[in-house]
Amino acid sequence: MTTPLDELWRPVAPPDEHEAAAIRAERVRVREFLAGSLDRGLFAPRCDSWLGGFSPEFSKALAVRGWIGMTWPRRYGGRAASNLLRQAVVEELLAAGAPVAAHWFADRQVGPGLLRYGSEEQRDQLLPAMARGELYVAIGMSEPDSGSDLASVRTRARQVAGGWRVTGTKVWTSHAHRSHLMLTLVRTAAPDPGSRHAGFSQLLVDLSAPGVTVNPIPYLDGGHHFNEVVLDDVFVSDGMVVGTPGQGWTQVTAELAHERSGPERYLSTFPLLERMSAALAGGGDEVGGVLGRAYARLWVLRQMSTGVARSIDAGTASSLVTALVKDMGTRLENEIVDEARRWRPSAPAPDAPDGYDRLLAQAQLHAPGFTLRGGTSEILRGLVARAIGMR
Ligand SMILES: Cc1cc2nc3c(=O)[nH]c(=O)nc-3n(C[C@H](O)[C@H](O)[C@H](O)COP(=O)(O)OP(=O)(O)OC[C@H]3O[C@@H](n4cnc5c(N)ncnc54)[C@H](O)[C@@H]3O)c2cc1C
Repeated sequence: MTTPLDELWRPVAPPDEHEAAAIRAERVRVREFLAGSLDRGLFAPRCDSWLGGFSPEFSKALAVRGWIGMTWPRRYGGRAASNLLRQAVVEELLAAGAPVAAHWFADRQVGPGLLRYGSEEQRDQLLPAMARGELYVAIGMSEPDSGSDLASVRTRARQVAGGWRVTGTKVWTSHAHRSHLMLTLVRTAAPDPGSRHAGFSQLLVDLSAPGVTVNPIPYLDGGHHFNEVVLDDVFVSDGMVVGTPGQGWTQVTAELAHERSGPERYLSTFPLLERMSAALAGGGDEVGGVLGRAYARLWVLRQMSTGVARSIDAGTASSLVTALVKDMGTRLENEIVDEARRWRPSAPAPDAPDGYDRLLAQAQLHAPGFTLRGGTSEILRGLVARAIGMR
């Protein structure tokens, strides 16, 4: 009999020689592109660049080189590459602190979601524009009273001729103010006392449609990435329903599994760690131990995350391992910020000329969200407890 724990002990097969060579070559291409972009001043490395670094120009430059939608079939603008190859590219971009937020959700989860559940028309119409780095999609799951408990979502869609009318409020919607669409979890049927997860659907809401209001929720420093999105009787055509009405819960859960295990769950503060390592090199045993431990944990997380990428390719991804990667990875991201602050007790300075101070300020500002977004640590530990039979 197999148990979810078997997933943890299953060895991850290394890539074969041909695949390993392709991954090495792709890493070299990405590094050369990044070095050239830095030389030309196209971006400044930053922490949490997958959420904080929004640059349509940079996304388009990546798209031209085939680094968006790279696992998607060629007929939709992809390269039919493996998730392992995508992982290598994403690692390089995040480690360099490159601005990848504009296309992030489309590339990471909306595109794969459409490939799995979307209609042929949606794929033809939307995927090529996403792969060109031109079509951005926000994620509308959370609501003012629904975060961890997503099944309590109250945004409702009622069926009308040719589509649905949607009313409700979404919150913490990253980049809704500069996205074209919002993949929105809504109730399309009244709550069923027999099943909390029945009656949900996913709709692609056009964020420029009448009835949509996007209100900014500023960061402490005035920065704007969060929003409240108010939907007041917004029309969504039948063609923009993703998958089968009523199956939204299954679809969202499948999406979350992909969302939790990528390199963005342990590399958000890597640019700071790298800068800190350079600044404190030769600083003695204590700081050497701190840095050594951080790199050792990163190595373990990479192995786990790579294992998930391979299991996605094989169609066997496990929610146990994805939850572990996110919990362990985001804890490390936060501890890097704590250590960076301990060894450099300067005041936060987002505009400081010194990279250490600037990256530390960005990381401090974003750190509280690391263990919340994509499922809080408590929720993830609950999933792990259930998977190992403790709940
Ligand atoms: C940077 C960032 C970006 C985000 N972007 C988006 C986005 O683009 N789209 C989107 O839809 N959402 C987004 N979110 C929202 C995010 O998904 C929610 O914040 C998260 O799911 C937690 O929900 P909540 O904030 O309502 O907290 P709550 O669910 O109210 O939780 C509050 C606290 O209670 C704990 N808790 C709750 N339930 C349990 C339980 N059953 N057992 C134990 N402890 C529990 C939680 O762990 C947490 O510590 C983003 C959040 C952040 C921080």
